[in-house]
Amino acid sequence: MRKRELNAFRKLLGERRHELVVEASRTLGGMGENREQFPDPTDRASLEGNRNLLLRIRDRERKLLSKIDEALGRIEDGTYGKCEECGEDIGLERLRARPVTTLCIDCKSLQEAQERKRGTP
Ligand SMILES: [Zn+2]
Repeated sequence: MRKRELNAFRKLLGERRHELVVEASRTLGGMGENREQFPDPTDRASLEGNRNLLLRIRDRERKLLSKIDEALGRIEDGTYGKCEECGEDIGLERLRARPVTTLCIDCKSLQEAQERKRGTP
């Protein structure tokens, strides 16, 4: 991959990372507000539901954050944009759509087909 393209992906990933951190801290701040919105103990169920939802979102954000950090690491060590299964170039179109991916479209399709066969999500 050309240096210019690598720089563009580094910038894109950096921006995604920043958005996630801002979003995550907003979610954390929102938890205190929610608590005050449900002072009635009969609303406890919906409060618990809200909290579980927030925890799930934060779990997803955490996973995405570590994927972004890994992708940034691959940019630094020069392996970014290579499929970790077959070693071929992943392709700029696919990387633009999903910059944290580590598999080319062929290997990804194969993996998904195998997962479907095993019945795991
Ligand atoms: Zn591949």
